[in-house]
Amino acid sequence: MTILAQRAELRPYILDIFRAAGSSDREAAEITDHLIDANLAGHDSHGIGMIPAYMHHLRQGWVRPNQTPVRVGGADPFAVFDAQMGYGQPAVTRVMEAAAQIASNHGVAITTLRNSQHIGRVGAYAEQLLARGLMSIHFVNAVYEVPTVAPFRGSDARLMTNPVCVAVPGAKPLLLDYATSTIALGKVRVAYNKGEPVAPGRLIDHKGQPTNEPKVMFEDPKGAQTAFGEHKGWALAFMAEVLGGAMTGGPRSGDGFEGRRGLVNGIMSIVIEPGRLVDGGWFDGAIATLTDYVKASPAADPALPVQVPGEAEQLARAQRGRDGIPVDPTTWKQIAACAKALGVDVPGFPDA
Ligand code: NAD
Repeated sequence: MTILAQRAELRPYILDIFRAAGSSDREAAEITDHLIDANLAGHDSHGIGMIPAYMHHLRQGWVRPNQTPVRVGGADPFAVFDAQMGYGQPAVTRVMEAAAQIASNHGVAITTLRNSQHIGRVGAYAEQLLARGLMSIHFVNAVYEVPTVAPFRGSDARLMTNPVCVAVPGAKPLLLDYATSTIALGKVRVAYNKGEPVAPGRLIDHKGQPTNEPKVMFEDPKGAQTAFGEHKGWALAFMAEVLGGAMTGGPRSGDGFEGRRGLVNGIMSIVIEPGRLVDGGWFDGAIATLTDYVKASPAADPALPVQVPGEAEQLARAQRGRDGIPVDPTTWKQIAACAKALGVDVPGFPDA
């Protein structure tokens, strides 16, 4: 049975895991807060359930704790960074701090970051910029031990779930943030851990045939995720690979690398001061009008009203902040095993 845990209950244990794994207090806090906030925002795929993968990457020497991204090129407003295979959360946070500084001088910043281990929920960095009144567009590539997403018209995996994110500040900030696959890999993992099927159209088996079985991503013979939106989503996934991978100078799908390197992300970010383009007060009014207009469309299912980008996360934060974050037994047992291996005490699962 799934339990509901409050942020304050989880945070000390997760912090201790990352501290025991060699991260500084600051790094441990940045990763911990990012993961728990992803759960709070409704994205369990990018929450504390990532810890077993992160610890696996650490044991293999693929992620290097306590790195600071190095600026290796680009004259303002451009900046090229290398994360030195550090954890993604502190790396992107530092690069977005730099981007915000550059944008405050130039009105715009265009940054790339390569050689970062998993950066988690991309929307978190867009929200870091929203808090400073900045809009942003992000293209991310991901490279894993093996690819997981099949090309449209293909039958085996060639890319990863390459997320795209667009965020616009204002009285009611807007946030588009999703994988270019029909389902995030972490959401397949959550279904696998719960022993549940995934919705139709998300996965294909090793013969390229549709399946609802999450095990095709974790057990041999391996299948693949599909790209969302047929040729349109596939084309966007491909461009995220181009901008997050080749344009950042980092690892890329099909780059010929032999061996394993963890879950590596590259991210290209375009950060803009919106006041350089439009008056803030007028813009807020325009967005309010537009939002009211689209939401006036009668819901096909009254239980599922029209939403705008970012609303789902706001609602999840309100609900999960109140009721708690759902944690399933498999996920907690995996986290507890990581903790035990590091000599950290965490409570057992209530029903265990
Ligand atoms: P998702 O399918 O849940 O889509 C989320 C997006 O859709 C949000 O912008 C949300 O506000 C919007 N949305 C949801 N319902 C809506 C509605 N009814 N109307 C309008 N907009 C709506 O997201 P996902 O693909 O499962 O991705 C989850 C997270 O995984 C994201 O934060 C993404 O950044 C992250 N991710 C990271 C990596 C990586 O390599 N680091 C890879 C893939 C995904």
